[in-house]
This record gives sequence, structure tokens and C-alpha cells, in this order.
Amino acid sequence: MSPDAIDMVLLTHGDPDHIGGLLDRAGDLSYPRARYVLHEDLWNALNSAPTAGLYFPGQAAFVRRLATLIESRMILFDAPYAVTSGVQVVPAPGHRAGHTLYRFFSRGEALWHIGDAAFDPLFLERPELVIPTEYQPDVARATREALAQQASEEGAWIVGSHFRACDVGRLSPAGNTARFRWGTDEAANDP
Ligand SMILES: [Zn+2]
Repeated sequence: MSPDAIDMVLLTHGDPDHIGGLLDRAGDLSYPRARYVLHEDLWNALNSAPTAGLYFPGQAAFVRRLATLIESRMILFDAPYAVTSGVQVVPAPGHRAGHTLYRFFSRGEALWHIGDAAFDPLFLERPELVIPTEYQPDVARATREALAQQASEEGAWIVGSHFRACDVGRLSPAGNTARFRWGTDEAANDP
């Protein structure tokens, strides 16, 4: 598939390990024909002063260039909505400015890509844990609790940006606690 064939890019947040591939070495868009889907708070962060602390210090020139190039190609949102058939945008605040998860629906099943709402399934099994280095730690914890509860009720598959390769799983309630159990279906994960 050529980069020109990509017509939509879904952004979870603006950390360098998540948007660093959007520009090529020459500083042009890697996916020049795509629309870019992002939360209004992320757009504002990309346009903020470096002193606001909404992106990493070394990212300033990159985010300025990226913002200039995607401005006419954006789809901005600040609430859940269906961005295209079978793809739903859901703000998942706390980890970074404008952090967002994406729900995909196909053949009666749901897969949630939760970005960095949890670095590892452990943080979904124990959503009471607080990660002090997040942008808004208490908001991020509340987001994890809510998403773990809802994904568990819906039986949705979950994957995160930093989960181990092929670690796609589902949550089930862990007894009478506010915790969950992570389970992967080996057959379903078999490539
Ligand atoms: Zn990350």
C-alpha cells in the first residue's frame, strides 16, 4: 500500500512516539492525501507555546511544521462521534492533552484502540492505580476505570499502543471488586 492510499489518520495524542512518523525526512507529510482526525485539545496543544508544557521540549519545531501542514486537512472533535462507517471516536482524557481512543466495529465484534490510556493490561486490571507522570493523573485514572468497566460489559477486544505484540485481550470482572481480569484468546490472536 502506498502512503498516497492512506486517506485517514487517527491521532490518539501528540507524544513523539505517536506522531513522529507523520512527517518524512524532508519535513513533508508522510500521508499527503489523508484527513487527520484529532481532538480540539490536541490541536490547541500543537499550537501552544513551548512554555505551556503541552508537548515535549524537543518537539517544538516538529509540531509547528505538522500543524501548518494538517490545518486544511483536519477533522476536529470534542465529543464522541462516528468518524466513518464502523469507526467511533471517543475522547479519553488525562494521559495527554486531547487524548482519544478509537472503537472499531466489524462483523458483530468491537475492538478498542485505547492509545496510551493504559501502558499495559495491568493498568486495566487495576484501574485504581495512579500514574503521576501523566498530564492529569486523576482524570486519567477515572478514564481507565470507566473504559475498563464499559469494555468489560461490552466484551470488547482491547489493544493499546504499548501492549506487547499480539496482546489483544478482553476484560472480565474480578469477583466483587472494582478490578478486572485480562484474558487473551490464543486462537483469535493466531495470525
Ligand atoms: Zn506512547
